[in-house]
Amino acid sequence: MKIVSPFLKKVVYPALSTAGVFHRTSARGLAIVTYHGVLPEGYEPVDSAIDGNLIAAEMLGRQLRLLKAHYNVISPEDALAWREGQRELPPRAVLLTCDDGLLNCLTDMLPVLQREKVSCLFFVTGASTEEWRTMLWYEELFLLLLRAPAGPFEISSEGILIQGDAGSREQRRALWWNSVKRLSQVDSGARTSFLHSARMQLAGDGKREFERNLVSCRRFGLLTRNELQELASAGMTIGAHTLSHPMLSQLPPELAYGEISESRTRLESVFAKPVWALAYPFGDPQSVNSQALAMAEQAGFQAAFLNFGGGLGTALPPYALPRAHITARMSLAEFEAHVSGFYARLQRAAGGDAHRVATTQGQASQ
Ligand SMILES: [Zn+2]
Repeated sequence: MKIVSPFLKKVVYPALSTAGVFHRTSARGLAIVTYHGVLPEGYEPVDSAIDGNLIAAEMLGRQLRLLKAHYNVISPEDALAWREGQRELPPRAVLLTCDDGLLNCLTDMLPVLQREKVSCLFFVTGASTEEWRTMLWYEELFLLLLRAPAGPFEISSEGILIQGDAGSREQRRALWWNSVKRLSQVDSGARTSFLHSARMQLAGDGKREFERNLVSCRRFGLLTRNELQELASAGMTIGAHTLSHPMLSQLPPELAYGEISESRTRLESVFAKPVWALAYPFGDPQSVNSQALAMAEQAGFQAAFLNFGGGLGTALPPYALPRAHITARMSLAEFEAHVSGFYARLQRAAGGDAHRVATTQGQASQ
């Protein structure tokens, strides 16, 4: 059961936040939050399905100031030292993470992190070890499906058939999510070729979104190798997010292992230092199975992160670390409800189990 109640959001969270109840918690452990970047100024969100994970720079600043006032934001290195048993966590410890490695991590998010003097663990894909810019395949697919003419929809390429109804926004979102699952079943080469065919068929001028203008580039473009090095040089820590961001649960095991293991190898060759952390792509219970957890350990990572179930006081299995997924819709009070573990405790009280992988239903996240 997922609790999303207007009463909680509008009444309970603000009242508890204002009264300071959330941060009076004595809960020990580590709250890990997941960001997905910052919306560049001038960008008009297209759809919450893909834009809802990015937040405004101003809200990021407010969240960080709240954390600094009432919690202890630890560095990724401190989190590793804790994982290795070399350091105790301070009370109300919080670790910042950010997935995907969009260009706005460098251009829009880093300045806020630097101003607030905190560091963050950035999870990037194999695309950010290359010298040329690309974009996330599932974001491009969403934008292409939005452009598809209304009515029955069908694309066939590389032996992959995607068909459905491209009518209402809801139908297009459902078609997209089914397509994400289907395209996760093939290797990244076949997926790239499929996307190329779809772009030729649907995009008109054949341009990808990040090629349209500077704002689109900051929203959709992925960091290149030089930009990733710039982020690391600014004191940020880099972790792996697989080579090509598939739903690991959909891939044959040998391809899934290659996605996990080679992403580490490639990043280590760029930085010439160990990459110890992995974030599972999408990170929801449908995308991550127990096999993926075992693969993360086998590939030599010290820690691997989910994208649900986070908050202080939650259990912290090293290869299924829960994280609080921060979205654009959250008020500051709701943000603190997640970080403090209040939301997770409420879920548990309602009979949900935030830590089970592959058996629970979760909201799609990236
Ligand atoms: Zn991701």
